[in-house]
Amino acid sequence: MTAFSGDLFDGRTSRAHPVHARVDAETLHIEGDGIALAIPLARIALAPPAGAARGVIHLPDHQELHSGDHAALATLADRLSGRTPERWARRLEGRPIYAVAALIVSAGILFAGLRWGVPAAAALAARTLPAGLESRIGTESLALMEKISLRPSGLPAAHQQALTAQLAARCGRQDCPPYRLLFRNSALFGANAMALPGGTIVVTDALVNLAQHDEEVLAVLAHELGHVRHRHSLRLALQGIGAGAILVAVTGDIGSVTDLAAGLPSLLLQTGYSRDMEREADAYALGWLHAACIPPRRFADILGRLDRSPSDTGLLDSHPGSRERIRPFIDAKDC
Ligand SMILES: [Zn+2]
Repeated sequence: MTAFSGDLFDGRTSRAHPVHARVDAETLHIEGDGIALAIPLARIALAPPAGAARGVIHLPDHQELHSGDHAALATLADRLSGRTPERWARRLEGRPIYAVAALIVSAGILFAGLRWGVPAAAALAARTLPAGLESRIGTESLALMEKISLRPSGLPAAHQQALTAQLAARCGRQDCPPYRLLFRNSALFGANAMALPGGTIVVTDALVNLAQHDEEVLAVLAHELGHVRHRHSLRLALQGIGAGAILVAVTGDIGSVTDLAAGLPSLLLQTGYSRDMEREADAYALGWLHAACIPPRRFADILGRLDRSPSDTGLLDSHPGSRERIRPFIDAKDC
């Protein structure tokens, strides 16, 4: 049985009546000078004490019982909350360690959602998205990139045509995804190659100039064809939108989605592909080079040179772990 003392306010005057209270199985008994109340627990509500303040028990007919006996009120709160589904919530709120644990679990779920849930959803969406929509995202991305930093290529037309013809000839003899090859000059992107949604591959003059053999350019293009084959840039773009949607759900900030949609091209270029995507593109490139009878070493050679190139933004920035990645290309046998 819980017993405590307090002040009863009768709801009609502001006068405090000192009383003694006790709680048995189903009833709150209040006794004092000329006062004898027996109120079913089902008819009372407890506002738990905040800090050092007194707790308030709301009684029928606007009566209130105020008490500073925190221990007794906590026991009463447990008794009352046992009747309601809020019991666990109250317990969680009442104990900082549980609140911290709940916060960590929530953060973990959010992290897992962003780390695995969004890419999985994006991969699924990429497979079901109509091809028309995919190429529109690619077209808009390219338009924005052209505006930001892509300029017409300064490479000799004959060299551009030769590389285009070599790629087409190789793809004529093996299975390539549909693609479109563009040569562009860009101070911002440095020596780089990018595969956009819909199959457009942009290769920069700096990359072609860095190559010491056309087969090195073809090796990089084979890697980009791997990104095209697996629709990586579309998946990346969708991931950006997916993460934004989750952030909106969490923060209620609708602005972040529009920001992300507008920033799609920079997301494609700056965030870069995941290691899993790079591995997929590399595996495709290795098979492609073998089928095309191009020594896989060519890919390792140009990647190694990129590693030492002073350009700010390079293929390697979005292609991490190059040393571990080029090993299979060095070890692979020629055709
Ligand atoms: Zn890549």
